Amino acid sequence: MKYIFITGGVISSLGKGLTAAALGTLLEHRGLRVVLQKFDPYLNVDPGTMSPYQHGEVYVLDDGAETDLDLGHYERFTRGRLTRRNNLTSGQIYETILLQERRGDYLGKTVQVVPHVTDEIKKRIRGVTDGCSADVLITEVGGTTGDIEGLPFLEAIRQFALEAGPENVFFIHVTLVPYISVAGELKTKPTQQSVAKLREIGIQPHALVCRSEKPIATPVRRKISLFCNVPVEAVIEERDVEHTIYEVPLMLQREKLDELACRHLRLPKRAARMAPWRRFVRRVISPKRRVKIAVVGKYMDLQDAYKSIYEALTHAGAWHNLGVDLVTADAEEIKKRGPARKLKGVHGILIPGGFGDRGIEGKIAAAGYARRTKVPYLGLCLGMQVAVIEFARGVAGLKRANSAEFDEATPDPVISLLEEQRAVRRKGASMRLGAWPCRLVSGTRAAALYGKRTVRERHRHRYEFNNAYRSRFEQLGMVFSGVSPRNDLVEIVEIKGHPWFMACQFHPEFQSRPNRPHPLFRGFLGAAGAAA
Ligand code: GLN
Repeated sequence: MKYIFITGGVISSLGKGLTAAALGTLLEHRGLRVVLQKFDPYLNVDPGTMSPYQHGEVYVLDDGAETDLDLGHYERFTRGRLTRRNNLTSGQIYETILLQERRGDYLGKTVQVVPHVTDEIKKRIRGVTDGCSADVLITEVGGTTGDIEGLPFLEAIRQFALEAGPENVFFIHVTLVPYISVAGELKTKPTQQSVAKLREIGIQPHALVCRSEKPIATPVRRKISLFCNVPVEAVIEERDVEHTIYEVPLMLQREKLDELACRHLRLPKRAARMAPWRRFVRRVISPKRRVKIAVVGKYMDLQDAYKSIYEALTHAGAWHNLGVDLVTADAEEIKKRGPARKLKGVHGILIPGGFGDRGIEGKIAAAGYARRTKVPYLGLCLGMQVAVIEFARGVAGLKRANSAEFDEATPDPVISLLEEQRAVRRKGASMRLGAWPCRLVSGTRAAALYGKRTVRERHRHRYEFNNAYRSRFEQLGMVFSGVSPRNDLVEIVEIKGHPWFMACQFHPEFQSRPNRPHPLFRGFLGAAGAAA
């Protein structure tokens, strides 16, 4: 096994996750089996209880783990399917250790950060590849070097490297080389200081990935090399991408990061064959036509909140040779000003998942606008629930219909709490989570799009379509095209007579990949393209 550790310095949000994922792409295209893992130094056990404002999207895995959005990049950039072992938080480490301590596993001892916390971290590094065959593990350490909470992780990987041997471990430090416009210069000092910090802990990086807005000229590279004690060819430039994040692997390949890592780790020399990837990137960059897709949510100013959805739209767009122009529509604004102002002229309307009642009425108005004006509609999770509420009010005449989540006293709870959720009190990891089978009803649009009888899709919800309304709505033109195997849960709905109106209780965005767009997104953009 070979190990690559990626740390970050100077500031957060440098795109360490993307760098890790992109290196994974390159190694995979060299024929290596790659596993990616993320450490998050915060004390939450998982990000499931954090607001998107704190953390961006919560990415859900097949096994139901609620994880950091970087795992979304990992799954999109490599072939692997990840599990809860691939995302480790300080919260999980401390939870394990404190339970062991109470059980008496450490009787007589003082429980300490070194060695107990660091040992547990090292165990999790080794454990992540148990039962799967891998050549390389890429571990990204979240946070910024110098943070107090990241120290145990850095100490653990330092020890780990010592035990694994120098030819088996490659340290990459992602750093910022800012451009100071008044001086007209790229500045290397923040990088120098951040590497100094890392060396103080005992880690000498083998390569520096330097994020920068401008090209890094040779003299600047030399300076970084000298002060940071890395060879000049190990100073890797990673510029802000012009068009799409899928360019990052190609950029890192040009800078020879993969070659450098493979040489150090004594991995086979063959080059990464990136032709199919490059074709995909080309389609993303220069599509034949463009469509306008509105996303109606409540975190519209936050790039990261609906990350997987935006990526899934890109994948499906590339498939149809369509560029996607996002029209971000704030649900509360739609409520205030009416849906037409923002949504008129768009070729598709997408409503993502969400929690809590803020913005709900705006989303319902947007779903109604899509239904009446026959604009293609894709509802995801909460986006299905609002479509059902809108149908109840607008078609079935149940004027006060609502979800029990937003109005406990509604006379028509068309969306109600899942039976299994009634006894749930704890908030952490207690939703209906992860991949569950969904049976597709033959003759429906869903069945045609998937071309399969049963699929597995990832979930994250507590509420669900209320079956008491099923037959009534069916008579009015709602099609239940995907259901749980026992037919007790509605998974996909469609509306008859509408050119393309589909909504699902699960999150298809988590399973879309660059050259394999998700069937529902593919169908949605196909319909939007036809409408354009
Ligand atoms: N809040 C809704 C529920 O819990 C929808 C969840 C979601 O969109 N992920 O069922």
